[in-house]
Amino acid sequence: MVSNLFFYQLALITLLWLCLLLHYAWPSDRAAIRPTPSALTPPRRKRHRALKSFEGLATKPPCDACEHTNAPHPHAPSAPPPRIVMTRGRRRQVDTSHHFCPNPDCAYRGWVGWGNLRANGHPNGGPWRQLLCVVCRHYFLETLGTLFHGKRASVDLIVRVIACLAEGLGIRGTARVFEVDPDTVLQWLVEAAEQLRAFSRHVLHDVRVRQVQLDELFALLSAVKDGEVSAAEAIERLERSPQWVWVAMDPESKLLLALDVGNRTLAMAQCFVHQVAQVLAPDCAPLFLTDGFREYLTALLTHYGQWVQPPRRQATGPRPKPRWMPQPQLLYAQVVKTVRRRRLVAVQHRVVFGTLEAVQQVLAACGWQINTAFVERINLSIRQHVAAVGRRVSTLCKGEDGLRQQLALYHVYYNFCLPHASLRLPLPQPERTNGCGSAKQWRPSTPAMAAGLTDHVWTLREVLLFRVPPWPQLAGV
Ligand SMILES: [Zn+2]
Repeated sequence: MVSNLFFYQLALITLLWLCLLLHYAWPSDRAAIRPTPSALTPPRRKRHRALKSFEGLATKPPCDACEHTNAPHPHAPSAPPPRIVMTRGRRRQVDTSHHFCPNPDCAYRGWVGWGNLRANGHPNGGPWRQLLCVVCRHYFLETLGTLFHGKRASVDLIVRVIACLAEGLGIRGTARVFEVDPDTVLQWLVEAAEQLRAFSRHVLHDVRVRQVQLDELFALLSAVKDGEVSAAEAIERLERSPQWVWVAMDPESKLLLALDVGNRTLAMAQCFVHQVAQVLAPDCAPLFLTDGFREYLTALLTHYGQWVQPPRRQATGPRPKPRWMPQPQLLYAQVVKTVRRRRLVAVQHRVVFGTLEAVQQVLAACGWQINTAFVERINLSIRQHVAAVGRRVSTLCKGEDGLRQQLALYHVYYNFCLPHASLRLPLPQPERTNGCGSAKQWRPSTPAMAAGLTDHVWTLREVLLFRVPPWPQLAGV
């Protein structure tokens, strides 16, 4: 009995002592950060708190891309020429409203649908129409500036070859399917990529989004041979070589904002965030969600920062120097995943800029939590559609440039041509099909449609035949 009583007393004293210790060691509020025994606060929490009290930078971080591009978007000349309306003669049968005069000396150069063009038949019985600018009397083919200009191969063949590449078949495979030389396929891809890059630049600008998810995925390129390489080993080796695919997307419209290849460095993060900022409207500062890669912080701060004059601490003495701080509307959160032995062991959310409440408010509109799931899903899709990023590849496009071309193709194909299942819209009236199948209930929708950039699903042929005007037109695409 005696030993029992003694035991109870001992337990009571221990409990009291523990309570006192906890009361002393536990921080009473967030502002009061006092040195606590490291055994009670794990190191991760400490880093979290250090990021919260971000005190700004003494200098604005430099961005190479910002310094080298003075005029990010080509602007239309201030005064457009008067529109031409034909009143005499019969009504024109051929629609020339998607074309523009290419003559640099013509006042109507670059103005789409300004009424200055006339169709002039097919010269030498060729597949393409000749167009005439009635102002400068300049003749040109309707394929000028596209992949098809000056090609003898059939249009269908070129479109199918490009479609095959966009669907993820490698260059050699595509060449075998269509019985064309692999070098020809590569040549077509190079030309198509250049044109599609211009198309992306032309269409993707002043986009308004509420969220952007950023991620990087590694690509096994020529530096690493096929097979026998574990993912971890590949990442370690690729850390030093420029073979990361950088992806930025809007999770709501599923629009791919930017896609690029580069190392996993601060310079590349700067360059990539620069590209994203170019696509977004100048006053649009969305919620950024990334993985734990720390260089994003500086990159975002470069493009979404401002000088702030800190308040004086003492009444006398020199004023404190201004600090480079994030814009007040900028929100940035990280999803930090801990992987051990290829298994996800922990997921941690970290709000870097802004408050947790503000971040949750943006996400609550969609009923989401802090996540990077959408961009991770798209990474899988990229692996399936871009042959050079697949797990085990032996395509011609092993170099960085080749990968860039395939990504340029996928960028446009994904945004404009591929209907996204989660974006489909119900038809007002179910449409009957020709066969005996059930009625059509859904209208397919692409990310570009969901983002309000276009009103229809584009075919690859349509995209490849689109002549990109030298400046953004007033009416859009
Ligand atoms: Zn002209």
